[in-house]
Amino acid sequence: MGRRSQDGSDKGSSDTGSRYSAENYVRPQLETPNGSKRCLMHSCCAPCAAEVMDALAASKIETTIFFYNPNIHPRDEYEIRKEENIRYAEKLGMAFVDWDYNVRDWFDRTKGMEWEPERGARCTACFDMRFEVTADYAAEHGFDLISSTLGISRWKNMDQINGCGERAAARYPGMSYWTFNWRKEGGAQRMIEISKREEFYQQEYCGCVYSLRDTNAWRESKERPKIKRLVKFYGRDGVLED
Ligand code: SF4
Repeated sequence: MGRRSQDGSDKGSSDTGSRYSAENYVRPQLETPNGSKRCLMHSCCAPCAAEVMDALAASKIETTIFFYNPNIHPRDEYEIRKEENIRYAEKLGMAFVDWDYNVRDWFDRTKGMEWEPERGARCTACFDMRFEVTADYAAEHGFDLISSTLGISRWKNMDQINGCGERAAARYPGMSYWTFNWRKEGGAQRMIEISKREEFYQQEYCGCVYSLRDTNAWRESKERPKIKRLVKFYGRDGVLED
């Protein structure tokens, strides 16, 4: 498919991992940037998280998944994305923190940015909010390393995400945000492979009510059917990138 955002407004980016082959792939032992063997990993959903979770588990980095996404709208969409992530965390025996769904605060934070395009100022505010709370939790619970699964998605601007993550971590002395590129070396392909194998729920918009609106508007302009939420699963319906 072309590199188009979910609302069709801009180009996404991907690492095609052209040298990657599932049969020959051996997971490397990852080194954290500050040498920590513990990581608090902000997660947005199971499809983005699973490859990251597998990589961390294989490197014996003690990981806690931190699910904090008050941007996701509506509530049933939030619940299904969270439950899918819990399902995979339980499979790996990985700790999972189910944090707040303070939707009002998210709308307050993004007020006035309702018509910003994806990867614009509203998304910066959205990432900032989620990563600040991740850093707060990390500081309170003895983590000095945080990161996020958001960057594995080709719909996202990795520089924007890393900037927000680093800003959040910098609020605490000694805390680092891990800017690892989870897409590279076939990470983006394994993300799809795992999603199909696990039959994860497949969301078709980023998460907030504005991204749902804009993706549907783009689809309408292309005479494509509107998003049907809660019904598509990787590997079951043959619905993938396009
Ligand atoms: S489009 Fe995605 S990242 Fe941007 S504000 Fe909405 S939920 Fe947050």
